[in-house]
Amino acid sequence: MTEALFADNGIPFQRLLMYVDSHCHLSFPELQGRLGEIRAEMAAAEVDRALCICTTLEEFEAVHALATRFDNFWCSAGVHPDSECVREPSVDELLALAARPRVVAIGETGLDYYRSNGRSTAEMEWQRERFRIHIRAARAARRPLVVHTRSASTDTLDVLREEGGDVAGGVFHCFTETMAVAHAALDLGFYISFSGILTFKTAHELREVARSVPLDRCLIETDSPYLAPMPYRGKVNTPAYVPWVARQLAAVKGVSVETVAEQTSRNFERLFLGEGSEADNR
Ligand SMILES: [Zn+2]
Ligand SMILES: [Zn+2]
Repeated sequence: MTEALFADNGIPFQRLLMYVDSHCHLSFPELQGRLGEIRAEMAAAEVDRALCICTTLEEFEAVHALATRFDNFWCSAGVHPDSECVREPSVDELLALAARPRVVAIGETGLDYYRSNGRSTAEMEWQRERFRIHIRAARAARRPLVVHTRSASTDTLDVLREEGGDVAGGVFHCFTETMAVAHAALDLGFYISFSGILTFKTAHELREVARSVPLDRCLIETDSPYLAPMPYRGKVNTPAYVPWVARQLAAVKGVSVETVAEQTSRNFERLFLGEGSEADNR
């Protein structure tokens, strides 16, 4: 992004560095009603695009409205594994949502046994069944999956393999798993997305994982309103903080932040916006 370009008047200028937040929750209560302020902060921080993530069917219309109102927002359709006492999606319903304009992914979906509240793995079958529904929908809709996995990586990978999740592809978001899990996900053709956790002092192992993930398979995200990166740890997170994740990833990989901004933006376009003219309709 450092090549000189020429404006209409023939004067060269430097293209701005631009970042994409590949995963945020702008409809959550912490951020709701702050949209104007957040968008101004994003512009000031050179964060030009964001993917707004859906966690329940009940929430979908609010998330979708963000993506149809602003041409630098897109959205997903899905039900988070931690969402309980919510409407279960069917493959047909997810397909119908995926066909709506600006819906570029299925999720977030996956498995989370961390919040199982003492239930056994067998008792979490409902999560696996819900995950299977999402994978089938993603395959049929030809949309990538946004995968959430916590304390459940073996089952997450097993279900993905059983359902042919590699056909849909997608991203393991907010990655906190081991090197072995990262490489298993890469082998299935998935991207790996790093969040503010990468900047936490204790995240030595995760930084080792990040070092070994090829840059052309990396995404960056905030998962806002949670997990604000250093130096904002503990505060309410917004997409404007995603450059801090990029800076940490650049340091880990020994490349410039421009390289990380450029490559993660290209990766986002390749995974979520497709190639050629089809992207214009999505
Ligand atoms: Zn998640
Ligand atoms: Zn999320």
